[in-house]
Amino acid sequence: MKLAVRNLYFPLPRAYLEFLLNQASYRAAMCITEVMVFKSTRMGETGYYVCPRCHITLEREFMSFCDRCGQHLDWKNYKKAAIIYPGTVK
Ligand SMILES: [Zn+2]
Repeated sequence: MKLAVRNLYFPLPRAYLEFLLNQASYRAAMCITEVMVFKSTRMGETGYYVCPRCHITLEREFMSFCDRCGQHLDWKNYKKAAIIYPGTVK
């Protein structure tokens, strides 16, 4: 006998429920864990923090949300962020 998985409180298709949960996850803060350092002959080394969800560098520091994907950001451990260089990211 196959058991049917249903949520009686939210009788929505599973794919739609997973989509809604994914969308809601953007509101849960994710810690900043990486800073990408760019080298140039004129400016020396310049670091930009990286969004933990979309992995794109942030335009400004200490923003509450990523300006690209909308992820809520947590800056409490930003000083411990790992230094990465362009071209070394998988
Ligand atoms: Zn992002």
